[in-house]
Amino acid sequence: MKPPEGLLDQRRAAGLYRERLVLSSPQGAEVRVGDETLLSFCSNDYLGLANHPRVVAAFKDGAERYGVGAGASHLVSGHGRAHHLLEEELAEFVGAPRALLFSTGYMANLGVVTALAGRDTAVFEDKLNHASLIDAARLARARVLRYPHADAAWLATKLAQARKKSPHPRPLPAGEGDKGLSHQSASLITTDAVFSMDGDIAPLAALMELARRYGARLLADDAHGLGVLGATGRGSFEHAGIRLEPPAILVGTLGKAFGTFGAFVAGADDLIESLIQFARTYIYTTALPPAVAEATRASLKIARAESWRRERLRALVARFRRGARELGLELGPSETPIQPLILGDAETALAASRKLRARGVLVPAIRPPTVPVGSARLRVTFSAAHEEAHVDRLLAALAEVRRT
Ligand SMILES: *Cc1c(COP(=O)(O)O)cnc(C)c1O
Repeated sequence: MKPPEGLLDQRRAAGLYRERLVLSSPQGAEVRVGDETLLSFCSNDYLGLANHPRVVAAFKDGAERYGVGAGASHLVSGHGRAHHLLEEELAEFVGAPRALLFSTGYMANLGVVTALAGRDTAVFEDKLNHASLIDAARLARARVLRYPHADAAWLATKLAQARKKSPHPRPLPAGEGDKGLSHQSASLITTDAVFSMDGDIAPLAALMELARRYGARLLADDAHGLGVLGATGRGSFEHAGIRLEPPAILVGTLGKAFGTFGAFVAGADDLIESLIQFARTYIYTTALPPAVAEATRASLKIARAESWRRERLRALVARFRRGARELGLELGPSETPIQPLILGDAETALAASRKLRARGVLVPAIRPPTVPVGSARLRVTFSAAHEEAHVDRLLAALAEVRRT
């Protein structure tokens, strides 16, 4: 369908038009764009594994052993040994009985929420949740309540009200095909564990307590915490000192800290069995290339063994925050590798991004509707592939841009 006339022009005029860069190099501290080499603070390749020689070698070996395409969905004949081993290793890593691979994080969120929620489910969403969680609840046709960012007290009030309205969840009818089955719960809380555009961490312990108290499930999307947070990189649950057990469900992605592609859901055995039966984005799509699973197995090994990557990240983030404070730049309250510099309107953020680029530094401007109106920002992300000197170059460039 053609967009209504003028919509693209309006977008352009508002400084909201989106354009793609064309990279001709792997991800890394520096990337090639056209004939320029730019210092990059854009990727979610937090541990610097997207182009790691052992990950690349595992990918090649995987392709030689299994070919390129999986050839079918997991349930038909696409589920291979590489997928199966990766699921077992991921489950072990995050401390859950089972894990189930999905092709992307977007699809994992759609799959879990539509399997676990229906018209009778109240889905509570943090205001700053990732688009995939928001779309997931819409697709499930659930009753959606968006709560103020990270506000567990507000959420507690709403959960109490919801329980008063339907103190005894209606008994679920049997034999209704895919709908209204006992794997659906009366309420589901969904949250980014680390917020993707702000870098702050959800109050997981408080959310877990509320989920327990009100008989809700808690879906935590740890796309940006996994591999990065916690002493051994197990993510936001390890960071918060809580075990991944019901009513919690974890969604993890493989395209960020693990440097490959894909996603998984981890949780109890019956949860995973329900997803295999009812998660449509699991059932009706081709399995990931097995070579991607092999590459991910290699990156998981590195992520577990090489804690120095997490330590380096923490040191780089601390150095950046110290330097930014000295420059009088206002950063959000983030201790993760996502460091937003909130500038306000879209044009200001875009202009700052362009000026940095003119100085050889690539930092994306993130604008509405990705972030709320009035909070356009530069989103700086760090990787273990960066050196301290790279952080200093970024700070120097920011200092110059500020003066212009
Ligand atoms: C990136 C991201 C996703 C989507 O994961 P993909 O594998 O890239 O589809 C989901 N949730 C959050 C919070 C993300 O940042």
